Amino acid sequence: MSEPSVFSRIIAREIPADIVFEDERLIAFRDIAPKAPVHIVVTPKTEAYRDVVELAAADPALLAEMVAAAKRIADEQADGDFRLVFNSGAGAGQTVFHVHAHVLAGGLEEASLG
Ligand code: 5GP
Repeated sequence: MSEPSVFSRIIAREIPADIVFEDERLIAFRDIAPKAPVHIVVTPKTEAYRDVVELAAADPALLAEMVAAAKRIADEQADGDFRLVFNSGAGAGQTVFHVHAHVLAGGLEEASLG
């Protein structure tokens, strides 16, 4: 077995984090290095999937739960609008290979991708 991911250590309460949401299958906490006024990491409690491609193929319902959680977080922490980012692969900047979404919200108009 490989070492538990940093997110599994947060789930196990071995590392402190500012947890904003938790249910049976998901946990969400503030990113330690925020890139937006609201920057929350949403991740499944299972470490079975490295990235969103693996997750979508194996358990699309869990992916849908992550999207629903992101919306709830954006409603609670900002005005309901949000950006959802999945870095997939080291070349895209992924550093934690335990699938997770970045929920970015609050004053993103200046950083539009469009
Ligand atoms: P990635 O680059 O893999 O898409 O995103 C990993 C994210 O996890 C980064 O934004 C990073 O700041 C965050 N992160 C890494 N270690 C910790 C930690 O110990 N606590 C918290 N709250 N966030 C972390």
